[in-house]
Amino acid sequence: MAYSYDSENIFAKILRGEIPNDTVLETEHSLAFRDIAPKAPTHILVIPKGAYVNFDHFAQTAPEAEIVDYIRAVGEVCRQAGVEDDGFRLISNAGRHGVQEVPHLHVHIVAGRPLGRMLA
Ligand code: IMP
Repeated sequence: MAYSYDSENIFAKILRGEIPNDTVLETEHSLAFRDIAPKAPTHILVIPKGAYVNFDHFAQTAPEAEIVDYIRAVGEVCRQAGVEDDGFRLISNAGRHGVQEVPHLHVHIVAGRPLGRMLA
């Protein structure tokens, strides 16, 4: 599938420094910041700095160095947030059925309370 990237999405604006964010980790290819409307005591979003719509787009087209950096950033944020002991959930909404509001690849790290069996 060919993806088209909307460079006016809110995360693109965050990456360009046009709107502020509460950064928790920045690496060469990735940025992690707190969700503006947290659904749990810990709710952090991790995005690649490159222009990718979702995981399929990222996996198909990103250089391996960006993919490795991104996966490591997700792990590092979990470690730094101290969520490993009690547990956490990673969510990546995609497309219409996934109710993806922001069309720039992101993983939600949700933790800090029991999350139940269904997605939060
Ligand atoms: P999704 O695209 O449905 O997976 O969710 C997008 C997420 O981005 C939501 O949880 C929003 O609360 C969050 N969000 C939207 N705008 C901002 C922002 O400016 N800073 C941080 N989080 C945001």
